[in-house]
Amino acid sequence: MTVGLEIHVELATRTKMFCNSKNDSNEKRPNVNICPVCMGYPGTLPVINQDAVGKVLRLGVALDGEIADYTEFDRKNYFYPDIPKGYQISQYKNPLVSGGELMGVKLTRIHLEEDTAKSIHPSTMLGASNVEYSLLDFNRAGVPLMELVTEPVIKTATEASNFARELQLLLKYLDVSGANMEKGEMRVEANISLAPRSLGGVGVGKLGTKVEVKNLNSFKVVEKAIKFEMERQIEMLEKGEEVVQETRGWDENKEITFSQRLKESAHDYRYFPDPDLPRLFIKAIPEFDERKLRTSLPELPWQKRERYKRDFRLKEGDIEIYVRQPEWGRLIESVAEILKDAELVQLASNYVTSDLKTLVPARSLAEVVKMISAGEISSRGAKDILKIIQEKGGEPRAIANDKNLIQESDREVLEKIAKEVLKENPEAPISFLVGQAIKKSGGRANPVVLQEILKGRKGGNGNNGEA
Ligand code: MN
Repeated sequence: MTVGLEIHVELATRTKMFCNSKNDSNEKRPNVNICPVCMGYPGTLPVINQDAVGKVLRLGVALDGEIADYTEFDRKNYFYPDIPKGYQISQYKNPLVSGGELMGVKLTRIHLEEDTAKSIHPSTMLGASNVEYSLLDFNRAGVPLMELVTEPVIKTATEASNFARELQLLLKYLDVSGANMEKGEMRVEANISLAPRSLGGVGVGKLGTKVEVKNLNSFKVVEKAIKFEMERQIEMLEKGEEVVQETRGWDENKEITFSQRLKESAHDYRYFPDPDLPRLFIKAIPEFDERKLRTSLPELPWQKRERYKRDFRLKEGDIEIYVRQPEWGRLIESVAEILKDAELVQLASNYVTSDLKTLVPARSLAEVVKMISAGEISSRGAKDILKIIQEKGGEPRAIANDKNLIQESDREVLEKIAKEVLKENPEAPISFLVGQAIKKSGGRANPVVLQEILKGRKGGNGNNGEA
């Protein structure tokens, strides 16, 4: 199997691609963010959204793509009720970005276009076959839409969904898009083809007939649909049937792909440069200076991964949490700055990943970790303290005192208790003795120190341990 991805992303700009109607994917009321331009009225003129171009270029630079010297917008002609002009403004021959790479997957291009309106079909929504109309919401019409196309080099369903996941993360880091798949801000299409190994189907060589699966709206669905399509095509090919080039959809309920239409080719769209829009000589536009774009980039996800690995030596799973949720990453960074010790930072990280649901002040978490490592509180006590901090705040030491969580680590006190317990249960195993001793101390004895003392006293057969 060989897979190539086409990913559409709505850009997080304030206004639409070619007019100043609001771009707001949260707007629930239909047809409020519209104007004559995005409604496709005759005689209107589009104006290029500079921020949208800048966002795509920033992404291009982050992916080490080649920024175009010269770019233009083209009309992609087709009729559909959600495309009021009868064409979509897109880019054909001269995309903004060519090449680049993400997770070892080579990119073909990234171009900029406009989104369509949203069609709403009450008949399918209500299951009422007698409803014979559809509704259109033009809020989305003309929203800046970026399309990223990969080379057909992906080999597995997991690789495809991992790629999409990493792209989503990058888009968020760059503030290019919210990239929320549930909201339709990021939409994945997969081109899937199979060829027998003997024909060089793996790697170079001839690719089989490709089938495009559209509207994959979650990472899970990306994986499921690619796996399903692979099985379907294998079955056909083994029966000697021919796979036809077509566009297929994903049936969420049946978890199968289904034929939507036979694939049209580029020439069906009669692409030509949009005469209403100026050509852009990117390199001549100071705002789009490549060095400027490059220095405007934040730390990228893979750079952050490397840094966390190098500086904090954290477990890989923990690092991934911090890279994916930067607010938690900032917490562990501040904690590390206070603790300055890899082992303690990992200890702090254990509490972050298993006990924290809300952020706590870094100095509080660092203090809790210091108290554990000094034997002042138990791990159980630390959990209790963190719970209280999350619920109502407070200082760790004050909480520990208040809740009687400070452990008794004084050797002399503990020796005395150990002696008593041993006297009462001379034959009992150490774990039992530790339990008894903790009970005797009112739950405050440090179990680590106790264990040490009890081992010393019991070990050496009859030796009472007092040297
Ligand atoms: Mn497109």
